[in-house]
Amino acid sequence: MEWLAAVADLVVPRTCPGCGTSSASWCAACAGELLGELVAFGGVRPVAPSPSPPGFPPCFAAGAYAGRLACVIRAHKDGDRADAAGLLAALLRPVLDAAVAQLVATGAEDPLVVPAPSRGSSVRHRGRDPLGDVVRRAAAGRWPVLGCLAMRRGVRDQAGLDARARAANLAGAVVMRPSARGLVSGRPVVLVDDVVTTGATLSGSTEALRGAGASVVVAVVLSARRRRNADEAPLSPRGVVG
Ligand SMILES: [Zn+2]
Repeated sequence: MEWLAAVADLVVPRTCPGCGTSSASWCAACAGELLGELVAFGGVRPVAPSPSPPGFPPCFAAGAYAGRLACVIRAHKDGDRADAAGLLAALLRPVLDAAVAQLVATGAEDPLVVPAPSRGSSVRHRGRDPLGDVVRRAAAGRWPVLGCLAMRRGVRDQAGLDARARAANLAGAVVMRPSARGLVSGRPVVLVDDVVTTGATLSGSTEALRGAGASVVVAVVLSARRRRNADEAPLSPRGVVG
């Protein structure tokens, strides 16, 4: 019912989620800045947390988790700004394309695109699937999108946990939906998340995908968050994909 959401956007007074100014949706300045984020970040970049958790996959980011991009990701995920999906998908798309191109260059065929799991309670609370919506728009029917990963019950929200607590919280926490096992076996997978911080979600998801027989897993994220703790090295780009 995309048309319905589009009509609702037109009739409901809104503010721009990037800067808070009165606007039907995005103000031109924020839209321009977000789409320029990829350029500002230096192109599609491989990133990795330091230290990387065991099994952390090769990972490409569209931007840094800061400024307007961070505001928009939060507004889309935790607020009511479903209208941000199109813009975030436009940002994700070149990163997704680069990851698929890397897979294809290594001879992998029939890639699957898999959104990282959210806690079930978060999804139910929101009544929608924010990440899945962005991923489906970015894939645009070119590759199948399979929401095959779930968080085991009892997993806490990761926000506010440090690296060690996140790793403990997520140990064995990502599970494959039984009905999807046969669909993943033997396939290359592009795993997608909105933010990478400690890498715990992506490494746990990779473990689950590998366990279901995925032939290779690479990850793409909308944004990479720098560590706040002084004793942890920042999440650093390793170089530009050439
Ligand atoms: Zn704005």
